[in-house]
Amino acid sequence: MKIVILGAGQAALQTALSLRQGNFDGDIDIVGNERFLPYQRPPLSKAYLKGALDRERLFLKPQEFFDAQNITVHLAQQVTAIDRQAQRISGDNGFALDYDKLVLATGSRPRRLDLPGRDLENIFDLRDMADVDAMAGQFQAGKKLVIIGGGYIGLEAASVARAMGLEVTVLEAAPRLLARVAEPEISEFYAQLHQSHGVEIITQCQIAGFQGSQHVTAVDFADGSSLAADLVITGIGILPNIELAEAAGIAVDNGIIVDELGRTNAAHIYATGDCTMHPNKLLGRNLRLESVPHAIEQSKAVASDILGAPQAYAEVPWFWSDQYDVKLQISGVPTQIDKKILRGDGDSTSFAWFYFTGDKLTGVTTVNRAAEFMAGKQLILRALRDGARIDPEALRDESQKPKNWLAD
Ligand SMILES: Cc1cc2nc3c(=O)[nH]c(=O)nc-3n(C[C@H](O)[C@H](O)[C@H](O)COP(=O)(O)OP(=O)(O)OC[C@H]3O[C@@H](n4cnc5c(N)ncnc54)[C@H](O)[C@@H]3O)c2cc1C
Repeated sequence: MKIVILGAGQAALQTALSLRQGNFDGDIDIVGNERFLPYQRPPLSKAYLKGALDRERLFLKPQEFFDAQNITVHLAQQVTAIDRQAQRISGDNGFALDYDKLVLATGSRPRRLDLPGRDLENIFDLRDMADVDAMAGQFQAGKKLVIIGGGYIGLEAASVARAMGLEVTVLEAAPRLLARVAEPEISEFYAQLHQSHGVEIITQCQIAGFQGSQHVTAVDFADGSSLAADLVITGIGILPNIELAEAAGIAVDNGIIVDELGRTNAAHIYATGDCTMHPNKLLGRNLRLESVPHAIEQSKAVASDILGAPQAYAEVPWFWSDQYDVKLQISGVPTQIDKKILRGDGDSTSFAWFYFTGDKLTGVTTVNRAAEFMAGKQLILRALRDGARIDPEALRDESQKPKNWLAD
């Protein structure tokens, strides 16, 4: 049997890994369009951008691993078509591979800011290793960096840039930072954190385009004003890479639609990672996630089904972000919050917020509070899976250790 995994990122690697761990002894081929073996993206906007992490340490596994595991990796190969009838993928320069099972792990790409001047030099996306390598030379003290988008990636880049002495402005279209992923109290915390490190933050701003002849010199606003810039990073969200699947007649809707085992509506074709719209039984809804833990766990589910021992994906989603000396950890994605409980001092750099839907704990957001995060994540699982309840006052009470919440 031959398994072909399309996309050579986190989800692709995990699928291959789990197949071999499950004693799959057929062929495994991974095909990716980047020039590199599968690598971790999270450090791209953190230690790698700062120059504090060698490229070698980004790679999830060395070439020797793939050799030893008999996994063939095809790099720099853009796949352009899936022929479901023939069970074959094909790409540029006559590249073609037949499959018995195909796993789509095509990830996502940055949403493009299509405005006049977007193609000027020194305007960067932040998705791939090549993006960071391209901007590294520009990360010099005193340069004016404008970051468009106050989400995790933009803010992480801001934190690195300040540490390296750049002048940083963050432009956000929404009324607050992190609006898509965090509650207002967390947005406010991060606005203050960045301002205290000298970052200028402008919210509710509309960008009209970019000035410059060869490289960018300024960002123009819709109100006619402008802001000088030596370099610009855009971080305004991502789009799932679904076009290939769609062209092959596979069902998509803001992601490749899969079930809890990663199966698409097409025979022998799975999808996993950032590119999927998937059901989560615990949450009781379908969603698309952009996170490493999700890519890993969903890929395990895919491999389990291929191995004939299906283990459905059902995890409480979680995320993290590192900015300055602050570690943010989030678990759960509540769609409705009825009650908020704060543990610790929300004006300090160590606290936890707990979010309830009705009397059920459905979300936790912690700042430099690893124990609260770990226990909170477990409590959310118990609440969603077993209907377990926790007394909100126990969460607030600092005399109670987080591990005690899980005592019974
Ligand atoms: C800068 C940055 C920081 C991040 N930080 C965090 C973090 O702190 N925590 C966290 O949990 N998550 C973080 N993420 C998100 C996380 O990296 C992704 O969720 C994860 O990489 C998803 O893995 P994936 O395998 O689904 O997709 P990807 O890693 O995107 O891999 C997909 C691969 O498929 C390739 N591909 C697509 N189409 C084709 C084709 N037609 N032919 C060939 N190859 C193709 C793509 O080029 C890519 O290499 C971050 C992401 C970025 C960009």
